Amino acid sequence: MPAGPAPLPRVEAAAGWRSVDFISDLHLHPGDPATAAAWRAYLASTPADALFILGDLFEAWPGDDAAEVPGFDADCAQALQQIAARMPVFFLHGNRDFMVGAALAARTGMALMQDPALLVFGNQRVLLSHGDALCLADTEYLRFRAQVRAPGWAEALMARPLPERQALARQLRAESASRQATGQPYADADEALARQWLQAAGASALVHGHTHRPARHDLGNGLTRIVLTDWDLQARPPRAEALRLDRSGQFQRIPLVPAGA
Ligand code: MN
Repeated sequence: MPAGPAPLPRVEAAAGWRSVDFISDLHLHPGDPATAAAWRAYLASTPADALFILGDLFEAWPGDDAAEVPGFDADCAQALQQIAARMPVFFLHGNRDFMVGAALAARTGMALMQDPALLVFGNQRVLLSHGDALCLADTEYLRFRAQVRAPGWAEALMARPLPERQALARQLRAESASRQATGQPYADADEALARQWLQAAGASALVHGHTHRPARHDLGNGLTRIVLTDWDLQARPPRAEALRLDRSGQFQRIPLVPAGA
């Protein structure tokens, strides 16, 4: 990811926050206007006091300068700016939108977080991650992840012209679609590593996305792993959901599929 101020390792909830929302894996792209519309409707109506975006908001992000060119990416950046004007917005990178950088954060007013990052909310300590780094069996992807997060890699890519990076993003999307079409199972999060992360952070719950396998897993010793759903309004049945956490510690899944979708 492009260099900038150090991403937050920890977020302290403000005293007035009653609830916070977590979303991930919307995979927004211009070929799926229905999911983008559901996201905007959700942003306009959520009663949460803060929004945590846990990666893969975008199916691909060619670089923060994409927000300066009229079109889909700029429209999404504007939607982020509007919600960040209303409530604090926190973002950590997924495996698709790892090129989101300090410039987009500054433009929209959202804050970038480390992965994992700790949320302290009342008496609760909740660890937040995209989840890709937990999928230890996906060795090929973890090599790619290490490469694109190495110092200088993003800067070198950003030196290429935007149209070239946009073409690269389209190519990655096509490769991913053809991989999905093979029906090969994806790796799941490693539970021993999840437990280790939670214990190191002194947290009781881990919230992550990436695997598109929404569930709540009991890890023993009072530890929980909660997995977010992806969003796809074109799927049958369509999927769209936020996870809401209130000050008392209740997690609630909020269905967001619009009527008639
Ligand atoms: Mn992902």
